[in-house]
Amino acid sequence: MLSRTVVNGSFGPVAPLCPPGAGLLAGDVATPRVSPTQNSEAMERRKPKQGQHFLQSAELRDFSMWEVANLDNAQVLQTFATYRWGSLDKVICPGCGAISKPFFRVDRAQLRCRHCDRHFSPLVNTVFADRKIPLKKLLMALVKFISSAKGVSALELSRIIDVQVKTATVLLGKLRECLLRQKDTETLSGLIEIDGGYFGGKPRKSCFRGKSKPGEIAAMVEARLRGEPVSKRKPKGRAARRNWEKRKNRRVVMVYRAVCPEGGEGAYATRTFIALSENSAVVDKITPEIVVPNSTIMTDENAAYTHLSKDYDHHCVEHSLEFCTINGVNENQAESFFSRMRRAEYGVFHGYRPKYLADYAQEFAWREDARRQTEMQKLMNLLRRVFDAGMSRWWRGYWQGHNRPGELLVRV
Ligand SMILES: [Zn+2]
Repeated sequence: MLSRTVVNGSFGPVAPLCPPGAGLLAGDVATPRVSPTQNSEAMERRKPKQGQHFLQSAELRDFSMWEVANLDNAQVLQTFATYRWGSLDKVICPGCGAISKPFFRVDRAQLRCRHCDRHFSPLVNTVFADRKIPLKKLLMALVKFISSAKGVSALELSRIIDVQVKTATVLLGKLRECLLRQKDTETLSGLIEIDGGYFGGKPRKSCFRGKSKPGEIAAMVEARLRGEPVSKRKPKGRAARRNWEKRKNRRVVMVYRAVCPEGGEGAYATRTFIALSENSAVVDKITPEIVVPNSTIMTDENAAYTHLSKDYDHHCVEHSLEFCTINGVNENQAESFFSRMRRAEYGVFHGYRPKYLADYAQEFAWREDARRQTEMQKLMNLLRRVFDAGMSRWWRGYWQGHNRPGELLVRV
């Protein structure tokens, strides 16, 4: 029996949602694909070995694209219905509100209510309501999204599930919308690390020679051959102005990470915010809302954090000298968040637009907090947010011009 209760952001081992090896459609959905004896053997096999990294363990791989590939349309429909309502016998009709076992219309990828005869999708009233792609492609996209450590680009997803890149863009945008609107908002306490990382607005290096006037390069070469010093003047004109325009797209991602008190286990809860600059006005506005007073806070030596010592036990590490003081003061967990986000910027997305930077930052906060969950747990974690977020406000009709009016900035 599958349960939808996933404690998001919880640290440490989480109770398995379905027995490893029992397959996707366990319980009342279909007969388990392995016998109880086989199941216990499979669980024994999946136990992490001594000293093995969690990402290398068989325990992590309790669900994969391979299992989705082997599902037929009826199984995919049952899978979504089970995840949505917890049981196929207790489906809530969106029309009349009756709780019953509906008829399955596999040809339409829909369910039919026994009381009012209404047809409805297992994704009714979610961001994927009225979707046109098959449910199986959607499930494949979700599995790809959770299993990629640095995220997945729209172009790559479009190649994997064979849809237009516009479809993949909106699909990923809707997933980030769910993560953003259903993000965890509990206040943090204990040991908190705070840092800011700048993204976007990077000026392109000017190519001085290429921008020179005709004849100027030849004159420079001749001057160099004569042994005269070459002018080091900066280019003035269109390229410099364009770079200055680009600087307007520069934003800072502020990250707050609660660190596991035992040590050696990293951070367990992450909160992100977007601002124009890392300054004391922004820090003084955000911090009281999410950090419990008298908590211990570690930051770098940036002047933006000087006011924190009034309400918090504030320690700072001088990064120009050391990464960690002799007393163990560091902000390496906050730095590691930016490391991953930066690598995704370089390797996967090739850039973040300021308008949707908050969405990407939240995606990586979610990925960090769910990093110790198994593939099945991450899928359930993501689906819970998809089902709870309601209809899409920012991506429904995106290509027809209906999108979010502005960016999500902390304004001071
Ligand atoms: Zn009904």
